[in-house]
Amino acid sequence: MKNIERIKKSISGCRRCDLSSERKNTVPGEGSKDAEIVIIGEAPGKKEDETGRPFVGRAGKVLTEALEKAGIKRSEVFITNVVKCRPPTNRDPKKDEIKKCRGYLESQLETIDPNIIVPLGNSALKTLLDEERISEKRGKTFEKDGRKYMPTYHPAATIYNRKLRPKLVKDLKKIGEESK
Ligand code: SF4
Repeated sequence: MKNIERIKKSISGCRRCDLSSERKNTVPGEGSKDAEIVIIGEAPGKKEDETGRPFVGRAGKVLTEALEKAGIKRSEVFITNVVKCRPPTNRDPKKDEIKKCRGYLESQLETIDPNIIVPLGNSALKTLLDEERISEKRGKTFEKDGRKYMPTYHPAATIYNRKLRPKLVKDLKKIGEESK
């Protein structure tokens, strides 16, 4: 039986794709093993690579604050990314890297079995749901392969466009209600 710690260990030694060559740390994700909500970004950034923890930079601070405003504790959810190693210079992860890493995310989702999955931003939306235009799809419910999804903005987008921040909080509130 797979569990989160075993998956984390497998990720830590993974050399399946080229992203392993320049990473400092793998970033498997963190949070509750019994989370009703799993939040998924695109890829770790510089701070995440340095610490091995997801969403700990500026965008992470925004996400944590937005969760709190929505009445959700960060410790109650599970936060991860589509790929578990930082792409050099924060470029987008390549298709083959996403493909090679996908099994880890699948194992995490199988193990946690959340009530709702939250893709953050366009890239996660495309990878997880094959949908585009986060501004149109945010806050809407999608069903795929027996799982429920509700995408929202990537918190980084709300750093550059502050008007999006209340919308992020609004979506997270809805996600909190849907997850019960
Ligand atoms: S990104 Fe994923 S597949 Fe690539 S080395 Fe890291 S853990 Fe392995």
